[in-house]
Amino acid sequence: MAEKQERLGALKKETEADKKLPLFGESNLVFGEGDAYAKAMFIGEAPGFHENEQYRPFVGQAGKLLDNLLKEINWPRESVYITNIVKRRPPQNRDPLPEEIAAYKPYLKTQIQIIHPKVIATLGRFSMNYFLPEAKISRDHGKQFRIKDIVIYPLYHPAAALRSTSVLKELEEDFKKLPDIIRSAEEHIRATIEEKEQEKPKQVSLF
Ligand code: URA
Repeated sequence: MAEKQERLGALKKETEADKKLPLFGESNLVFGEGDAYAKAMFIGEAPGFHENEQYRPFVGQAGKLLDNLLKEINWPRESVYITNIVKRRPPQNRDPLPEEIAAYKPYLKTQIQIIHPKVIATLGRFSMNYFLPEAKISRDHGKQFRIKDIVIYPLYHPAAALRSTSVLKELEEDFKKLPDIIRSAEEHIRATIEEKEQEKPKQVSLF
């Protein structure tokens, strides 16, 4: 049962030791935290000041809002997995650079493969565009996109919601749909498996 935790632990050590990663030696590794078996993964852009201090994602003001949104849908924070596309804080919280996103990509990719969630809720446009390069946050937040068997669900960044009451309202509305999205994602996976089963040629009984 602990297998995924162990694999994530090994991946964290590997990420920590990779001296070639941008921002290595400048800020701390904020690898991510939560249930290795989570059905929902939340992915932000990069750690900020408090995240860097505490080595934990989303623990500042934006994190408090994320915690409240989770509480409203009765999802304990420990039941989901939270991480970022870039796992060290860029100086002065500047936007992550394309080369930083590219350098951390193999680690995020493996992290997603290990957890294999039903839904990835992207927080903000950098994370959304990592999965959906053509998407626009004002147009596509709250819509569902499927990549293989994972639903990508773009959400506004909580920090943006702290600056605008209308964005906050949209984020709250989108968030409320998460439990249903998980249910329908599971239903879709079940139906796909059943379909594949039915397509298998029936075994001919020889006796
Ligand atoms: N903003 C992010 O994108 N990630 C964090 O971890 C904190 C703030």
